[in-house]
Amino acid sequence: MHDSCSNCGQHYQIEPSFFYGAMYVNYGITVGIAITVFVAMYVLGSDWEMLHYIIAIIGSLILSAPITFRLGRMIWINLFIGYKPDWKSIKKDEYSKSR
Ligand SMILES: [Zn+2]
Repeated sequence: MHDSCSNCGQHYQIEPSFFYGAMYVNYGITVGIAITVFVAMYVLGSDWEMLHYIIAIIGSLILSAPITFRLGRMIWINLFIGYKPDWKSIKKDEYSKSR
């Protein structure tokens, strides 16, 4: 992950260990993926054994980890920093107050 935004220069690491909270977001996403894989296998499959479910869920979580890692961080930072499309027209001191 980059240190700051290449467009507006927003520093991503707002405070030390800021992204620890992103782990909880990531946890929620991975639980959703695990439930989705389980339900899909249960509905579509015939007679899966428990080991098949476990292998499929762990495999899908490992494959989706690069995406869920970044998605969790993006969701987490967007809880604290809003998107401002007109940030260039706002003066610097007003911009820091408007966050
Ligand atoms: Zn930016």
